Amino acid sequence: MSKNYFKNNPDKDGFFGTYGGAFIPPNLEEEMKKINDAYFSISKSHKFINELRQIRKHFQGRPTPVYHCGRLSQKYGGQIYLKREDLNHTGAHKLNHCMGEALLAKHMGKKKLIAETGAGQHGVALATAAAYFGLECEIHMGEVDISKEYPNVQRMKVLGTTVIPVTHGLKTLKEAVDSAFEAYLKDPINSIYCIGSVVGPHPFPMMVRDFQRVVGIEAKDQFLEMTGELPDNVVACVGGGSNAMGIFSAFLFDDECALYGIEPGGTSLKMGEHAATMTLGKPGTIHGFKCYVLQDENGEPAPVHSIASGLDYPGVGPEHSMLKDLEKVTYDSITDKECIDAFFELSRLEGIIPALESSHAVAYAIKLAQKNPQQSILVNLSG
Ligand SMILES: *Cc1c(COP(=O)(O)O)cnc(C)c1O
Repeated sequence: MSKNYFKNNPDKDGFFGTYGGAFIPPNLEEEMKKINDAYFSISKSHKFINELRQIRKHFQGRPTPVYHCGRLSQKYGGQIYLKREDLNHTGAHKLNHCMGEALLAKHMGKKKLIAETGAGQHGVALATAAAYFGLECEIHMGEVDISKEYPNVQRMKVLGTTVIPVTHGLKTLKEAVDSAFEAYLKDPINSIYCIGSVVGPHPFPMMVRDFQRVVGIEAKDQFLEMTGELPDNVVACVGGGSNAMGIFSAFLFDDECALYGIEPGGTSLKMGEHAATMTLGKPGTIHGFKCYVLQDENGEPAPVHSIASGLDYPGVGPEHSMLKDLEKVTYDSITDKECIDAFFELSRLEGIIPALESSHAVAYAIKLAQKNPQQSILVNLSG
């Protein structure tokens, strides 16, 4: 792990080791190259960096605090700390990359943001960013999810976004991705597909990671200021992996910090009952990039389940796939039941109601605390 890590990962073709890349239709190759070039010139520009800083401070409410869980630590041992991304505007870390993607879109002269959403969290964050910048926004969402997550549909509509119901297949996330992708292909000049995690074809895994790095940079400073040392353990939940990359990125070169990425173990480790991609997946290709993929007997993406819809994905970010092979991060899983127990523990001992996604990380922190009562644990509370 060298100081040039972020310059060399991904390489110029978008690979993190053997993972990542861009396996996309030829007509999109040129568009991805334009996005990549715009990102490289803009991300070095004083004006862009300054505008993003102002947005983070005055609109998003950054820096978010780091909080020491006194009662939780007393009950389970260890010293458990939370990076409070739930206090970011709209209630999760997702706005960090949505504001970055929308700012890039505006600089590129795009008129419309397009994306899919499962539970609606990415949709609400992107709708918020679109309203802020005065851009059109179109969110594709399966009909099943629309009825399950109606409050988020209403929030998107209030924010001025068009919600497109997807009525084919299982009418959930995978069909919504296909539908959003089709809409984007019709007009890639005026629109941009804003991916919701560190997944998809290059340059998205890199850009989303870079926009999330603020979480780790802040948390490291804050933790040092509070305790005078670095955390022994850093824990984050992993769906696609954006909140985890955000916090891990600041600790990749600190060998004294153990990093843990926590996936949903669901109700069992039988196919269709979990989404533990790192634990049970194999290298493969999904949605235009290479990564660990949960696969069925035909090598197709397997059906997945998690109580937390934001973690319910059969693939994972390419950078995480590389970090697993390098044994830089330990990937493990937490069951639906352990997640619910942690959800109530944090709520009742600390007065913080976590997202079910983040409760996976809290559950793992509790286990670590019981095992190593003398150690400190920093959890990314993604929402
Ligand atoms: C979407 C979401 C996640 C999962 O996304 P990652 O890209 O894996 O971070 C986790 N937590 C919350 C609160 C979310 O909304």
